[in-house]
Amino acid sequence: MSTPAALPGSPFLSWRGAQLEIEGHALDALAHEHGTPLFVYSRAAMRHALASYTRALAGRRHLVCYAMKANSSLAVLQTFAEAGCGFDIVSVGELERALAAGGDAKKIVFSGVGKRPDEMRRALEVGVKCFNVESLGELQSLSEEARAMNVKAPVSLRINPDIDPKTHPYISTGLQGNKFGIAHKEAVTAYRVAAGLPGLDVVGIDCHIGSQITEIGPYADALDRLLDLVEAIEAENIGIRHIDIGGGLGITYTDETPPEAETLVGQVLARIDARGHGKRELLFEPGRSLVGNAGVLLTEVLVTKHGTPKNFCIVDAAMNDLLRPALYQATMGIVPCIRRTGTGALYDVVGPVCESGDWLGRDRKLAVQPGDRLAVLSAGAYAMAMASNYNSRPRAAEVMVDGKQVHLIRERETVRELFARERLINS
Ligand SMILES: *Cc1c(COP(=O)(O)O)cnc(C)c1O
Repeated sequence: MSTPAALPGSPFLSWRGAQLEIEGHALDALAHEHGTPLFVYSRAAMRHALASYTRALAGRRHLVCYAMKANSSLAVLQTFAEAGCGFDIVSVGELERALAAGGDAKKIVFSGVGKRPDEMRRALEVGVKCFNVESLGELQSLSEEARAMNVKAPVSLRINPDIDPKTHPYISTGLQGNKFGIAHKEAVTAYRVAAGLPGLDVVGIDCHIGSQITEIGPYADALDRLLDLVEAIEAENIGIRHIDIGGGLGITYTDETPPEAETLVGQVLARIDARGHGKRELLFEPGRSLVGNAGVLLTEVLVTKHGTPKNFCIVDAAMNDLLRPALYQATMGIVPCIRRTGTGALYDVVGPVCESGDWLGRDRKLAVQPGDRLAVLSAGAYAMAMASNYNSRPRAAEVMVDGKQVHLIRERETVRELFARERLINS
């Protein structure tokens, strides 16, 4: 069989005969119309993924803050803002994007291990919900910036619970020896410091233990560690209004079996209730699990090279469009937009960039010819958001399918734009 019958992840992606469709639109036709490389997203898939969180949280004080670094295209942010989401941001650039897309500042949490003073000031000016603070030094400088503006900065401390999320080392963030967060054993002291600083208002506690997590166990452990702290901190008369569990829930790329968001949230709630903390506002910061399986990257086969020991299928998308395979050795599904008959051959699917690390998939059984178009699956998260111009390659266009409608949400970058801000030296 040259392609799998079932597609991982998105219920909005399906075969109609030999044609691969997203929300009923033929992907090959979209590639033909808009060119390749092309990202195509399903709006329904994004809403569907969000609903899994909100169903479980119904009746609770809660806020889902979409971690927009996963995919920060304006129309994606707009989709979540319209659905009532807040945003988890990590830079002033993300802040301005969220606002430009209609995001509500009062639903924005500002994460990140290093925030510049100008970023703090802008976030204070627009009135974000909370700063997730990661060090004593940051508490100090945030307090000073807030004092100078005559306001109080709402803060939550990001705790490093020292939990192994059992994921790739590059995307695990909650272990000792990691640059993120304040060590669990130093947390109570840090809260005392925060409570004593004149420019700060302690409002919450947070953690984020990693990404592409496929088990509930690490969340349950992290939550218990967090609740222990909440109790210790409140024993010192420092109030904690909200608990933020972070993001990190994994998706199915090939054969992973992560829990549904609804199941994860349900178990988190059960544990919180069991320990008597059910009345607190609860925050989640999902990124990948809201958008990952809502998108595909379409690419055209330029040439095939048959040889020993390997065959190469060279396509017009590359590591600058989709970095995950090169950066994390990530495996992502690759299927033709129109299935051919025949068994095909085993290929490494690679891009044209001058790096051996420039590959999209290894040892894939494909029946392809030059001119055919392929879809790289589960490309809605950490794909376009990580795209670069390496090799002077303009970034791809993006299309959002929404029921019968197809919206071009980002025009393809032009080569001219790539060097429009550069200057030759007058000599
Ligand atoms: C990246 C990140 C997230 C989202 O992670 P996903 O794995 O995409 O869900 C949430 N919170 C923080 C602080 C992050 O850095």
